[in-house]
Amino acid sequence: MASIITHSMRAFLVILITHLPVLVLSRTLEHTHTHTNIHPHSNPPLSFKSLRSLEGLRKGQTAKGLSNLKRYLNRFGYLNSDDGSDYFDEVLESAVKHYQQNYNLNATGKLDYGTMKNMVVPRCGVRDSGLHGHESINGSLYSFFDGNPKWPSEQTHLTYKFSSAVQPVSLDVFRSVAAQAFAEWQRHSQFTFEEVQPLSRSDLTLGFFVGDHGDGFPFDGSYNILGHAFSPTNGRLHLDGDETWTVGVPSDVDLFSVVLHEIGHLLGLAHSLDQNAVMYAQYTPAAIKRTLIQDDIDGIRALYSTP
Ligand SMILES: [Zn+2]
Ligand SMILES: [Zn+2]
Repeated sequence: MASIITHSMRAFLVILITHLPVLVLSRTLEHTHTHTNIHPHSNPPLSFKSLRSLEGLRKGQTAKGLSNLKRYLNRFGYLNSDDGSDYFDEVLESAVKHYQQNYNLNATGKLDYGTMKNMVVPRCGVRDSGLHGHESINGSLYSFFDGNPKWPSEQTHLTYKFSSAVQPVSLDVFRSVAAQAFAEWQRHSQFTFEEVQPLSRSDLTLGFFVGDHGDGFPFDGSYNILGHAFSPTNGRLHLDGDETWTVGVPSDVDLFSVVLHEIGHLLGLAHSLDQNAVMYAQYTPAAIKRTLIQDDIDGIRALYSTP
């Protein structure tokens, strides 16, 4: 019994000690992340479910809850400003059209069934930055963050560590899944990755958090937003500790698929329009992703100009 208490106290202390620097760091790094037009700490979680009640609305109408839609579209990069009103104006219509184009829906600007159904699919919390409809020249559908942030060319060996506020899966499982996901990116890019001890300095830090966890992008309970990661060279990758994370079972939220996706952000890839790409923003249990596809590989190689 005594040894169990000692062990759990030690685990708690390790979590506490390793978590504190992240919180401090997150405040000093605010200016480096790529999410614009969002004010940290004035940003309550989005309610995806409530969006369904807006089905059928179109330009010119006023309806309670349209302000939630504006927050959603602002959060994910389709509306530059959110006026907080429940009026469906021209700006909102064009944002809806842009969203519909990116998700291969009829770009009507109306809140039809397909659009509202699409909006409640669980997804990554990173905005669909750099996506402007199907306009790519060479047919590729990957994208980069605004300004193409990336790791300096001499920095191809990146270290990572784990620092979580909660532990929905054991550290051993998390460590093993992350190692496999890093290996997949390593196979197709110039990067090599190495885990370092929790108290060491690292380029990347991965962890589970719940609700408002201090970086201005609160998590929201199960489903909705599953995780997010910051563009280079920030290095933070956060997973929503309220999800039912699964490993190797095609149900609920597949830890490997989401970690593989979020690592792409750490390296500088934004969302792809290719539904089969690891970097596609949405997650569905039916489409678990274990390997990078050509679009992901083309994206990382284009960003770092490797053949
Ligand atoms: Zn993402
Ligand atoms: Zn976060």
